Amino acid sequence: MFDGLHKAFSNAAKSLGEKELNEKDIKDILFELEISLLESDVAGEVIDSIKSDLKEKLIGSKVDKNEIEKFVKDNLIFSISSLFDNVGSIDIFERIDEKKKKNQPFLIVFVGINGTGKTTSLAKFASLLQEKKYSVVVAAADTFRAGAIEQLREHTNRLNLKLVAQNYESDPAAVARDAVLYAKSHKTDCVLIDTAGRMQTSKNLMEQIEKIIKVVNPDMTIFVGDSLAGNDTVNQAREFHKYVKFDGSILTKSDADAKGGAALSIAKVTSTPVLYLGTGQEYSDLKSFDKDIFLETVFGSLGDVKIEKIDVSTPEPEPTSEPEPTPKPISDDPFYGIKDNEIAKYSDLFDIPPPESDAKAIKLGNKIRQWIKDGKPKPGESKVISFNDEAEIHKQDKEEESKKKRGLFGRFKK
Ligand code: GDP
Repeated sequence: MFDGLHKAFSNAAKSLGEKELNEKDIKDILFELEISLLESDVAGEVIDSIKSDLKEKLIGSKVDKNEIEKFVKDNLIFSISSLFDNVGSIDIFERIDEKKKKNQPFLIVFVGINGTGKTTSLAKFASLLQEKKYSVVVAAADTFRAGAIEQLREHTNRLNLKLVAQNYESDPAAVARDAVLYAKSHKTDCVLIDTAGRMQTSKNLMEQIEKIIKVVNPDMTIFVGDSLAGNDTVNQAREFHKYVKFDGSILTKSDADAKGGAALSIAKVTSTPVLYLGTGQEYSDLKSFDKDIFLETVFGSLGDVKIEKIDVSTPEPEPTSEPEPTPKPISDDPFYGIKDNEIAKYSDLFDIPPPESDAKAIKLGNKIRQWIKDGKPKPGESKVISFNDEAEIHKQDKEEESKKKRGLFGRFKK
């Protein structure tokens, strides 16, 4: 994810660095930025806001020609960073604990259109709650789509959770209310309510969601959007937010080739935080959205410019005697978090050709991270593992392929 945005910002900063800073240059650069952002699926009004913010800061500024790139980068980061700060964040578990103290269940309604990954995200979140030792009941309040109840039942069976369901065509608000009554009588901590995925343009169906919300009065409503759907997701979020003031969103499929614009746009358009990113098809593939990781991914390899205005770097971990696991990339980019010049230096030092497959790229990325962690030793100073470990790469490729062939439930851990 975020690859498109990365390019958008990188292009904008680099082209300015080669020019004198004057009003005409800024006009051209802003136009370039606008096109790149549009291609990265950032919504129009968000682009306008970024543009006007930048314009204000750049025009009339006296910037050393050599400092222009850093200046543009700092200001871009500042705009995006403030945008995320302004929408705030939510500590769901703290809020669940507050309700728990009052002996009341915490109710969450999941909304979004069909196919975005709403049911899967609900199941992932249920699994996360279980991990944190909260008890959960699930309400099958999608009584509209054929197969919806069975799909949810598969998940609840696997997770060993109580499912409250009625027949298709029954009143979804009544199902949700039943689940709340169950939670109250069984002292269950959380109720997760699945709703029918409906097109945001279907007024009738949107009114049904409004009814569910009125009847159960949830503590939280979460919008689930597909980060691959780009501007469509932004339009869905805007429309849903009109009917149901949701509190935050989950963006699914960020493990696939999403461009990053959706996270930025949804936060801006709805003034609500992105809570989680869906990063795959396992129950554990739900990661908290992290603004700093987003910024690092988007701006990470714009060069060696040190950011003084806003510190977006991840804090140095405390030294421990245990070797640390390699952090799992949040994006598809195998070189996530590694600067371009570090990749180039490593390739030069160890004479590494460009990787020929995804599996090789992932392996190479991990090695470069390890090399950086080891203090960037030169050849001969430490053990450098052979890059061409074909057998292992082949095995990874095979595993990936067979994962794709198995169905949804086959892919989940048993
Ligand atoms: P719903 O109709 O909105 O409830 O969507 P589903 O939960 O049935 O998901 C639709 C498809 O998207 C399924 O094949 C899911 O396995 C898949 N999916 C959901 N979340 C993710 C994700 O984060 N990453 C990937 N790669 N696939 C996902």
